[in-house]
Amino acid sequence: GMENQTTPSSAHCVVLAYPAQGHLNPLLQFAKRLNHRGVKITLVSTHFFWKSISTKQLSLSSLTIESISDGYDDAGQEGAESLKVYLEKFWEVGPQTLNQLLHKLAESGCPADCVVYDSFLPWALDVAKDNGLVGAPFLTQSCAVNDIYFHAHKGLIKVPLSEEKYLLPGLVELEPCDMPSFISVYGSYPVVWQLVVDTFANIGKADWVLSNSVYELEEEVVDWMMKIWPLRTIGPTVPSMFLDKRLEDDKDYGISMFNPNNETCMKWLNVKPKASVVYVSFGSLAALSEEQMEELAWGLKDSNSHFLWVVRSSEEAKLPKGFVGSSEKALVVSWCPQLEVLSHDAVGCFVTHCGWNSTLEALSLGVPLIAMPQWTDQGTNAKHIVDVWKTGLKPLVDEKGIVRREAIEHCIREIMESERGKEIRNNAVKWRSLARNAVDDGGSSDKNIEEFVAKLKHS
Ligand code: UDP
Repeated sequence: GMENQTTPSSAHCVVLAYPAQGHLNPLLQFAKRLNHRGVKITLVSTHFFWKSISTKQLSLSSLTIESISDGYDDAGQEGAESLKVYLEKFWEVGPQTLNQLLHKLAESGCPADCVVYDSFLPWALDVAKDNGLVGAPFLTQSCAVNDIYFHAHKGLIKVPLSEEKYLLPGLVELEPCDMPSFISVYGSYPVVWQLVVDTFANIGKADWVLSNSVYELEEEVVDWMMKIWPLRTIGPTVPSMFLDKRLEDDKDYGISMFNPNNETCMKWLNVKPKASVVYVSFGSLAALSEEQMEELAWGLKDSNSHFLWVVRSSEEAKLPKGFVGSSEKALVVSWCPQLEVLSHDAVGCFVTHCGWNSTLEALSLGVPLIAMPQWTDQGTNAKHIVDVWKTGLKPLVDEKGIVRREAIEHCIREIMESERGKEIRNNAVKWRSLARNAVDDGGSSDKNIEEFVAKLKHS
């Protein structure tokens, strides 16, 4: 390549994120860890996505931000009449604009060596290979979930689901309710279903398959996957400042689509007793039914614990009338600094939708969980939380698909007060150190990142 004579040659990685909070977070954190090892990073997402994030946050010390187009530069996905139409346009314009970006970088004297891309955007691998670059999909969801999608891709899991039990390599026995929702309710989300299954269409060309998971969390399935792909686990992608060892250059901990009420939350938490608060959040996308929202509200109140509840502004109207302000034990905010909250001593458990980032964050910070999965991979994550890692409970879901207030209250009391809760809390502490060790010097993920960087520099 065109070597710069004045500086020692260092590898240059383009890191491409699908435009969503739960996808940007892990790719950004991985990019920072590469950067820490001397890899130059160009972090890429769509024009609209970057525009929708306050520019202050984009002044990330040593990463360069660039964009490609999804064909909807003014409105993003909202601008398209459906997700299907959006993705079709993105699949047409995305590869062209990524290709242009790679050419621009080469012409500027700083060519990319590698494209690490969100596995939801598999065309990026074709673009990388056409340009003679190393190509590495980044799986933003668990290996278990990808195991299921891979088997569906191979036609080995039939939809709609017809079996009572599913036994896949490296996984515990799964019931239909433990399967990703795109499969169990196939027909409702055929477009997203196609998206996740297409992850595997060209994966055979990949130089690496990177996974935001931790070897110790999913040993058997990782071992199995490593036999078919050059898979490496690199997680948890939690910013180093929340782990045991902070990287010197890790100052800003993330990019947020919403404005967190940092001060309000931390001030409120600071005066609460140790492990006395229930933290409640369903992530950046999930929408609860009004009925579920009401049951949750009263379940939290009836638990008699303090609770910090994130209700995004798009969900606010579903809160029962008069609920906000009706309890001195409650703080309801529209977004919070989740990692700071989960790290706080006052937090005793986390009522979660089991998004993969939230799951990994809670595991890494040692917080017990109450699993209320809503859709996509969350049911599979919940199954692992409850039956494999044993760091949480899943309240009963009734025949209407609603978790009733009594079930929520019961789980909170179990985790916060009971003997069984003690076991769960101890397990949470155990996984906390395993997850931290993985990214610490010489840990499983640390070694994998080192190997990836070393090979990059020599390719
Ligand atoms: N998050 C946050 N503040 C909140 C709620 C969520 O910072 O009030 C962050 C959380 O730490 C996580 C991400 O948003 O990194 C949500 O990702 P996840 O995979 O859990 O769920 P998704 O939003 O993709 O459904």
